[in-house]
Amino acid sequence: METAPDDFSHLGAEAVSVAAGDLSTAWARIRGRLRQEVGDVEYRTWLRQMTLQGVEDGTALISLPTRFLRDWVRDHYGDRLRLLVQAEMPGMRGVELRVASARPAAAEAATPAEAPLAESLLVPPAPPPAMAVPAAASNGAGGNEWVAPLDPRYTFDTFVVGKPNEFAHACARRVAEAPAMAGFNPLFLYGGVGLGKTHLMHAIAWALREGNPHLPVAYMSAEKFMYRFIAALRSHNTTEFKTQLRSVQVLMVDDLQFLIGKDNTQEEFFHTFNALIDAGKQIILSADKAPTDLSGIEDRLRTRLSAGIVADLHATTYELRLSILQAKAHDAGVEIPPRVLELLARKIASNVRDLEGALNRLVAHAQLFGRPITLETAPEVLADILRSHDRKLSIDDIQRKVAEHYNMRLTEMASARRSRAVARPRQVAMYLSKQLTQRSLPEIGRKFGNRDHTTVLHAVNKVTELMEADAAFAEEVTLIRKMLET
Ligand code: ADP
Ligand code: MG
Repeated sequence: METAPDDFSHLGAEAVSVAAGDLSTAWARIRGRLRQEVGDVEYRTWLRQMTLQGVEDGTALISLPTRFLRDWVRDHYGDRLRLLVQAEMPGMRGVELRVASARPAAAEAATPAEAPLAESLLVPPAPPPAMAVPAAASNGAGGNEWVAPLDPRYTFDTFVVGKPNEFAHACARRVAEAPAMAGFNPLFLYGGVGLGKTHLMHAIAWALREGNPHLPVAYMSAEKFMYRFIAALRSHNTTEFKTQLRSVQVLMVDDLQFLIGKDNTQEEFFHTFNALIDAGKQIILSADKAPTDLSGIEDRLRTRLSAGIVADLHATTYELRLSILQAKAHDAGVEIPPRVLELLARKIASNVRDLEGALNRLVAHAQLFGRPITLETAPEVLADILRSHDRKLSIDDIQRKVAEHYNMRLTEMASARRSRAVARPRQVAMYLSKQLTQRSLPEIGRKFGNRDHTTVLHAVNKVTELMEADAAFAEEVTLIRKMLET
């Protein structure tokens, strides 16, 4: 299978603008740099099969042997590749990725019909180091598209652990070390969008693979599960589907909330689930909510879902966001001032995916224009992202922050107690709610234990007065306000 990667005899007359010799060295340099950047394993898995086919109108034509590989490379390395080509091949503006089997041997290996049926269900085993074709691609584009390939970036190594996710992480580690252990089966991970559920599932799969490259692990989204099951129903082929499913050692179904309300599929899922658990196989599931809060699923399934361990990925904290950014900036090998990372961690609080997106854009920008990233340029580059994350403050946020500041219990915000120690902070919270939200006085009153709007008005006036008379108090209120606004 091995051919000299730098054999350019096939370039022929297409290589018009640059001498073939120069092209060959440039291409070798690009490959070398990519290899350095992404590491050996990733390079061998995804990039090694790239062939420079020629250049045309300022575009480098690069081929890959399968559509799957081509799409993968385009989606994951496309930008980087383009930048490298622009840097290393004078006059080149872009890159076109094509599907073409440069090597007949590789093309043959990619015939879907060759893959045994039962295996077409599994995430294919990791390629042995000497094998250039990633196994995922060797099933061809049509072979097993409903089983998602594992993302090589989603490993335990790249998962940053902090308070909000340490429990889920520990459970995932445990399952990766000893699958199907009593008490940890099924493992049910839940949490909001972009908090790392899929990342953790892939990480478990990679870790299991490391221990045993041939372990049959099936990872799929609940949607794909459904789609596949319905297709099997249509073609009267459910037996085969069931046999395939039950032949795995580890079954991972991601985003279970999408399975809801589809009676047939739920039924099938339930039986598969029971059969696998009874046979001592590990099941790992994820959803956006806890099993008890998933609506539209049958009670018996709900009960089984919670029978193992249920681990919550909490919303990220500022500290976790900052650590993630630091880790990712470090991996990207780009110098980003700490103040810029702090800005992102503060402003983009919703989910890690958006945080990553912002960071990637900064990195790409810096590389494209060769300008350093600064506290001045970053907000410009990210203007649209930052705007869309301009968080609307809620009265709850304000109550929480004020309670925290005065070291009182949150429930006191709505309590009837009138002692000075709770009444003053409560007034400050009402004042800030009026200043920082669009809520009306009656609306604010309701959030403070159903108080009358005149009470809120009184609080607003009182705090305003006090701030004028007492500089220290004014400073305090301003400080809380600042903390809320950043
Ligand atoms: P979910 O499946 O919960 O919606 P993902 O697992 O797809 O979220 O995570 C979204 C993105 O954020 C991924 O690129 C993932 O690598 C990244 N991510 C999430 N949490 C972490 C973390 N703790 N450390 C590093 N990257 C993370
Ligand atoms: Mg996910």
